[in-house]
Amino acid sequence: MNIHEYQAKRLFRDYGIAVPEGHQADTPEHAGQVARELGGSGWVVKAQVHAGGRGKAGGVRLAHSHQEVLDFSRDMLGKRLVTAQTDSAGLPVERLLIEKIYPIKSEFYLSALVDRVSSRILFIASAAGGMDIEAVARDTPERIISLQIHPAAGLQSYQCRKIAFALQLAGEQIKALETIMRGMYQLLLAKDASQIEINPLILTEQGQLLALDAKINFDDNAVAMHPDILDMRDPGQEDRKENKAQQYGLNYITLDGTIGCMVNGAGLAMATMDLVKLNGGAPANFLDVGGGTTPERVAEAFKLILSDGKVKAILINIFGGIVQCDIIARGILAAVKEVHVKVPVVVRLEGTNAEAGRQLLADSGLNLIAETDLATAAAQVVALAEAA
Ligand code: ADP
Ligand code: MG
Repeated sequence: MNIHEYQAKRLFRDYGIAVPEGHQADTPEHAGQVARELGGSGWVVKAQVHAGGRGKAGGVRLAHSHQEVLDFSRDMLGKRLVTAQTDSAGLPVERLLIEKIYPIKSEFYLSALVDRVSSRILFIASAAGGMDIEAVARDTPERIISLQIHPAAGLQSYQCRKIAFALQLAGEQIKALETIMRGMYQLLLAKDASQIEINPLILTEQGQLLALDAKINFDDNAVAMHPDILDMRDPGQEDRKENKAQQYGLNYITLDGTIGCMVNGAGLAMATMDLVKLNGGAPANFLDVGGGTTPERVAEAFKLILSDGKVKAILINIFGGIVQCDIIARGILAAVKEVHVKVPVVVRLEGTNAEAGRQLLADSGLNLIAETDLATAAAQVVALAEAA
């Protein structure tokens, strides 16, 4: 689960991580009022969306008068922001964060995350922080340093110093960095975050270290234990189809392609997507309907795929091990009765009660293309999507 920057910064404050002075606002007038209350002569207006890359997309703007705060807020609120990290539809901007402008001497990158490979918490830092960190990681990976935290020993002062030296900090700033790293470490553990990212962490002209940006991801499997975090959820920022799928216990992830996939089992779903790709197609989604599924769930899954306007053809690939193929067939028929299916559907049913399932589909009089061989089914669905 993701939260907004203004919420992440609230948590940062609770854990002693220094952040800019600022406040959130949901109308231009409110934004103007926040700027007046903050005082000073420069403010940054930041769109609150669950994605980075806002700076380059016009979602972070520096205002030098109250009028500009109002103008920029009017420009952003109520619109959708498209960044390099969103899809082409972008995300709705319903809230802004207004902060004082700080004179920046250096921009660093600092993050803490749960590393699955080493099963440790990892700190990652770079002196080359800011908006181009992806390019730094790609072109000059040696400029990025990482260190593992031993779970029994915890974060050690010498480790904080190691990062401080890599960032060429000195004196009081080294202690300030340690305070920030300790805050991140405690926050990560206490709230079951999977990643905390500060990009940029800035050194101001006055020598102050501040988290200018804040991004926290939480482990979905742990978030139920943290009602305070769950309260910060903003469904408006989440994929509507993925939310709906969650309600029905379906594992669904929206992708960019044109071929809707309905498969049972995550492994088979991955293999199906690979085969679609191998044949030159692109999946519109990942969908695992699960093992012990019901006709209702299959119907919901089918409706979910059809609600995606990009879908030009559907591939249903079911291997009946635990789930029975006739149950799947009944679910498909129930869904087709409710929604008008305009795209071709290729169905590959194999395993328990496959014969009965195929018979049900054949008897339905619907325009479904039955296949028994997966490779053929994948090639066929790609050809049908291309022809559409
Ligand atoms: P994103 O990562 O989504 O692009 P950031 O919060 O990192 O958004 O902001 C982008 C850039 O805007 C920062 O790298 C920084 O240069 C500038 N910026 C953001 N907040 C401030 C601020 N309070 N004062 C001065 N510059 C800022
Ligand atoms: Mg940033």
